[in-house]
Formats: sequence, structure tokens, C-alpha cells
Amino acid sequence: MPEIIKVDNLIQVYGDGTKAVDDISFTIREGEFFGFLGPNGAGKSTTIKILTTLLAKTSGSVTVAGYNVDKEPQNIRKIIGVQSQETVIDADLTGRENLTLQGHFQQMRSNMLRERVDELLKLMDLQEVADKRARNYSGGMKKRLDLASILVHKPKLLFLDEPTTGLDPQSRNVIWEYLEKLNKEENITMFLTTQYMEEADRLCRKLSIIDNGRIVISGSPKELKQQVGADSIKLSYENDESKNVTNEKAKKILGEIQGVTNILDSDGGLTVYAKNAGFIIPDIVRAFDKQKIKLTSVNFSSPTLDDIFLKHTGRRIRTEELVQNPKGGIFSRRRR
Ligand code: ADP
Ligand code: MG
Repeated sequence: MPEIIKVDNLIQVYGDGTKAVDDISFTIREGEFFGFLGPNGAGKSTTIKILTTLLAKTSGSVTVAGYNVDKEPQNIRKIIGVQSQETVIDADLTGRENLTLQGHFQQMRSNMLRERVDELLKLMDLQEVADKRARNYSGGMKKRLDLASILVHKPKLLFLDEPTTGLDPQSRNVIWEYLEKLNKEENITMFLTTQYMEEADRLCRKLSIIDNGRIVISGSPKELKQQVGADSIKLSYENDESKNVTNEKAKKILGEIQGVTNILDSDGGLTVYAKNAGFIIPDIVRAFDKQKIKLTSVNFSSPTLDDIFLKHTGRRIRTEELVQNPKGGIFSRRRR
């Protein structure tokens, strides 16, 4: 498959001196589902703004579908769809009117446009609410309408900036299914950014993890997980100062256990990596017991993208817990 996006040594420094993107390079092939996974402030939106011709880069070279972002932005805009973190929906208009309006912006002819709008309402399962005002839509419906509105002109490449942030888990799942369908059945190349590991893992066939404006690692989710090459065991224990039970002591004990390949600090305890973690858990329990350190939890897991992020940055991606607001039915986020 030919390349559809080529980025070389891209740097973005904002007016106030913030280096939001710090020398990144990557290529995306036609038909690919590509993901940028990284925490808040990593540089994801900045990169998307440059690739979608909304922001002039500081330096580096960027081509989209063979067009240079600086010289041929009009050509790029014709073939891309962009879903930003802010919605483009007009709440006072119906779903159908919103889509029609988008078509007018794109100067589509009315009979063709009418057909396309019907097609999209069907594709996004919005037929039943097509003639209701968007303000009455649920969060999930709004996202679907948002998605439909960037598909009106049949783009071959979609940019999705955190498409499911703020959605409840069920609506998130529904959006994932639509995105997969667009990629597989409509053969649309996808560039998605996310803070959610599960989202990157589920959707992206190729992935770059971005942190502080730099790409720390790229590959398929499977390749990345194999790279850690080990299961992990998360341990927590009573950290009693008077008994001098510090992380250091626990680390020393773990370091002496055969099969342990790496030990990292993680929130409230330690994460231990080992080839066959299942087998060494009894050894760990015995060793801690012998040293009179009381284990409060032992969790075993196969590698996740979170482990990759931890390995390359020494930190964890903050996971966001979605909490339903019992009064308004609106979802708010609580940081963990
Ligand atoms: P992400 O989308 O991954 O959360 P952003 O690309 O929005 O990250 O931001 C990357 C960095 O650039 C952050 O430190 C952010 O505060 C900073 N930044 C974003 N937009 C601007 C701006 N217009 N001016 C100055 N700094 C900015
Ligand atoms: Mg962003």
C-alpha cells in the first residue's frame, strides 16, 4: 500500500516557547488504522492541526496524499475529514440539516447531497432521530452525528482527535464499531489520537506512543506488547516506616528471585516483570513472608500497552474512570 501521510522531523514551537512537538517522524499507509497514544499535553492535537493544515508548522516536512501541507493545503482539505475535540454540530438544527449544511460548505450539488445525507444517517443509525434537533440527542448520538458530518464529502482519510473522550463505556464501544466499519468497509485511512490504552489496543493496527512531543515507540499493539516480553505482577504491601519496610528493601528481595527481569515503582507499590510470572508468585510470597513484610495485594497480568508506556517513560498513562452523574445523566470524568 502506498504512503498517504509522511512526516519527517516535524517540530512545533508555539509563540510562548512551548515545544509541543519535538522532532517526530512517521509514515502512514493507505487503508491503515493508525493511532497516536499519549497523555494530556503530549502533542497529539498539535500534530493533527498541522497535518490537517490548520496550523503552520515550525519546521520539518509533511505531506498528505502526496500534497505538501504548506504549498497545497486546499488539495489536502478536499480529501480529509477532521473530527476535533470540539463539536461542529449546531444544536438548533436537526441531524439532517446539520449534514446538509456540511454538504453546502463543501459545495455539493443538492441531489447528490440528499442521497449522501440519507446514506450517512443510515450508516450512523440516526434515521429515527434525523428530523429532531441535535440538542435533544444523547452524547453517543451527537458523536455519531459529528462523525457523519465529516463524512459528507466522502473523505479518504479521517483525523479523529480523541473521538471517545468523555463518552460512557457503552457509547464508546458503539463508536469503536463505527470506526472499524469505516476503515474496513469504506476503506478510509484512520489517524486517531487517544489517551485510552484499550482504545488504541482495540482499534489501531499501527501505533506510536507520544509523550512530551516525542515518539517513544512505534509498532502494532502486538509487537509492542511482545517487546516488553514479560508478564507483570503488581505488588503492594504494608509500608511501615518503623519496621523500615521501604520500597528499596522490597526491591532487594525481588531482585534475588530467579526469573525476575525488571522491577519498577508503580502507584503505591512495585511492578515486577518476569518471563513466567505465574511460576514465581509463590517464591515472591515466601520471600516477603520470610522478611515479615505483609503483602496487601498481588495482581498478575499479561503485558498491556500501559506496561509499554511505563517501560519507556517511567510513568503510567493516567486512566480515566467514567462516572455516571445520577442527576443529569451526563458523564463526568474522575482522575485516578
Ligand atoms: P495533546 O493533544 O496531546 O493533549 P497538545 O498538542 O494540545 O497535546 O499540547 C501539547 C503542548 O503544547 C502542551 O504543553 C500544551 O499546553 C501546549 N499548547 C497547545 N496549544 C498551545 C498554544 N496555542 N500555545 C502555547 N502552547 C500550546
Ligand atoms: Mg488534544
